[in-house]
Amino acid sequence: MNYTAKQIAKKRIQILLQQATQVHKTNPALARSYVWSARKIAMAVRIRLPSEYKRQICKKCNTLLVPGESSRVRVRPQREPHVVVTCLHCGNQTRIPLKLKNKEKVRIEQNNIQNEAPR
Ligand SMILES: [Zn+2]
Repeated sequence: MNYTAKQIAKKRIQILLQQATQVHKTNPALARSYVWSARKIAMAVRIRLPSEYKRQICKKCNTLLVPGESSRVRVRPQREPHVVVTCLHCGNQTRIPLKLKNKEKVRIEQNNIQNEAPR
């Protein structure tokens, strides 16, 4: 057996999060308990959750954040451009700053001008 505790923990976390994704639609409460377990294991062995899941989990209630389903995602260009992810279960908001290149900044500004209602 060459597996370390951390490697085993990583695998279990992966499986738990995959299962959470699968049952989320039919049983959000069960998905939350899977996510909760995954976070507990991660904490116990002091590893981070996989980065692809990190932004998909509500830190407050462990809901799997699926845009349009369990979360609302909005881009806010004010000051520093950032994304606001709102958990529709507990209402918790997470801000994710966007580090944009200048080109992309311009594109967001142009979009805003287009989105303004014509008078
Ligand atoms: Zn939440």
